[in-house]
Amino acid sequence: MATGTCLCGTLRYEIAGPFTMMMHCHCSMCRKHHGAVFATFVGAALSGFRWIQGQEAVASYQSSDQGVRLFCKHCGSVAPTPVPAMDLIIAPAGCLEGDLGIKPQGHMFAASRAAWLPITDSLPQHAGMPQEYGGGMGVARPAVAQRENVSDGSCLCGAVAYEVRAPLRMYHCHCSRCRKARSAAHTTNMFAKVEDFAFTRGEELVAQYKVPEAARFGVAFCTRCGGKVARVSRERGTVVVPAGALDTDPLMRPQANIYVGSKASWYDITDALPQYAEMPPA
Ligand SMILES: [Zn+2]
Ligand SMILES: [Zn+2]
Ligand SMILES: [Zn+2]
Repeated sequence: MATGTCLCGTLRYEIAGPFTMMMHCHCSMCRKHHGAVFATFVGAALSGFRWIQGQEAVASYQSSDQGVRLFCKHCGSVAPTPVPAMDLIIAPAGCLEGDLGIKPQGHMFAASRAAWLPITDSLPQHAGMPQEYGGGMGVARPAVAQRENVSDGSCLCGAVAYEVRAPLRMYHCHCSRCRKARSAAHTTNMFAKVEDFAFTRGEELVAQYKVPEAARFGVAFCTRCGGKVARVSRERGTVVVPAGALDTDPLMRPQANIYVGSKASWYDITDALPQYAEMPPA
């Protein structure tokens, strides 16, 4: 039995399992919805899925003809999706707690991965959706032209857009809050000064959620689609950008894996970057 929660704790659910599928998805829609460089999903029989609380707080966004994206309207965390036609519940592994009894089996939509971040493990890679799940290459997003010294980002529905210059740092963060906030194995966050950042449209649609007991941990998302967007902290003068949701090159590359002391048990770090149990030394 696995329990899942969103970042704010409003959504709580359980899945009896066993999990029959675990895949990393690199599609551009997942990258924008989660704000991560890839999402990781598990699947189990729908009959073993049960809401404990918070179902009324689930918002939905119709992302394509077939696809509906579900998320917590308070914190933006991705919610589980029932697929009755396949008797499946598909859940974001980053929101689940404990040992899931399964490890990732492969990468799907590898052809849509963030161009700047190679896949470093040896799991099978499928260009699109694997045949056993119906095949197909998904929905192509319009390409955004690279601008010199500017990185452009936008949400899943496109209503919110922003631009970043002169990024300072970039980390894969494996802390439990980032895993819930991105509903993913880890986040890949880029940091910049607030004066090097601007929303170019849709700022009024952005909601921020701050974890009450945390000094400053929070997340920002588009209230229309749940897509994660840059979080501006005026008081600290910084912006945290979900690098996986960028439309163009981030202008820098990840520098380290941080908070690996609290990483998901089912996720193996296979890149060659330095690893720190918590923050890197200043
Ligand atoms: Zn929530
Ligand atoms: Zn996807
Ligand atoms: Zn949106």
